[in-house]
Amino acid sequence: MTIKLNLEEVSLSGIAGKRPIIVSGPCSAESEYQVVETAKQLEKLNVHVYRAGIWKPRTRPGTFEGRGTVALPWLQRVKKETRLLITTEVANRQHIREALKYGVDILWIGARTTANPFAVQELADALHGLDIPVFIKNPINPDIELWIGAIERINRAGIKKIIAIHRGFSSYRNSHFRNNPQWEIPIELKRRIPELPILTDPSHICGTKEFIFEISQRAMDLNFDGLFIESHINPEEALSDKNQQITPKELGKLLNRIVFRSLTITDSKLINILTKLRTQIDQYDDELLDIFEQRMNISETIGKFKKENNITIFQPGRWEEIVENRIKQGEKKGLSTEFITKVFKAIHQESINRQNRVMN
Ligand code: PEP
Ligand code: MN
Repeated sequence: MTIKLNLEEVSLSGIAGKRPIIVSGPCSAESEYQVVETAKQLEKLNVHVYRAGIWKPRTRPGTFEGRGTVALPWLQRVKKETRLLITTEVANRQHIREALKYGVDILWIGARTTANPFAVQELADALHGLDIPVFIKNPINPDIELWIGAIERINRAGIKKIIAIHRGFSSYRNSHFRNNPQWEIPIELKRRIPELPILTDPSHICGTKEFIFEISQRAMDLNFDGLFIESHINPEEALSDKNQQITPKELGKLLNRIVFRSLTITDSKLINILTKLRTQIDQYDDELLDIFEQRMNISETIGKFKKENNITIFQPGRWEEIVENRIKQGEKKGLSTEFITKVFKAIHQESINRQNRVMN
């Protein structure tokens, strides 16, 4: 069942070719120079909207919580001196009031706020009767209903220009992502509310610069509507999220590298099916890698234990038992004996190598 909302397209003045929508700017507004200089460099790229956090919801106290209202005139300068639209995160009624006073074009609701219906309702009440676009990030937990609920609350307040931002989902288990993308959730959101644009935020998904390109390309291959990427003139000196910010120059290169596939309607349906399947494969591969990493860490811990207690690495009884059991388990799952034997031999060999390293 699809959900019918009262939505209107967000018009982005500035540059030709509206898809993909690119939002970029620093995690936080830190100084007038950093805000304006970053914007001037981003203006030269295909960026539509300039982002900068003024009030930062930090997980732990005692870290940089944003410059607050004094930074709003800096954003206002960006609006005056460049063609970029400006957006900042709002988490309460007061933030909305201040942001509107300084002509912020688009408001954004952060992941921690989306997770809290009381906070979202407060924002919805404050927005009642206004005509301003709102970005709504997914909640930090993988709960699509909570995300849809926030979108509905804002829409019921009369806001018709809404864009969802997919920024990944936190998990307790270590993963090479800061926030797992769990692509099936934004895909399901698109299915439930087809006319709702969705941007992907690879910066907060990755947590480091490393996979920003891959995640961006994947988002484009999945037909999402754009990207929300953090950019800072000097990432090493950033006061928040320094590991995941890239310079405007790096962003330019990244945008040039992305293949924006455009296809005829009939083809795109087929490609969509294939891309979704491939995305599931990619996701399972990501999980496999995380599991391999965790398994090898345990092998090393066992290596230390064996060293301290003076026992040999190779324990034939244990190994035979493992292979036999895994083959039986694999058979039940339709996996051939040959495949299971090869995979577990390779895993076992790698475990021995790791333990060897620890012991010697
Ligand atoms: C941000 O965009 O800087 C931010 C705080 O993001 P999120 O709400 O996704 O954590
Ligand atoms: Mn950030």
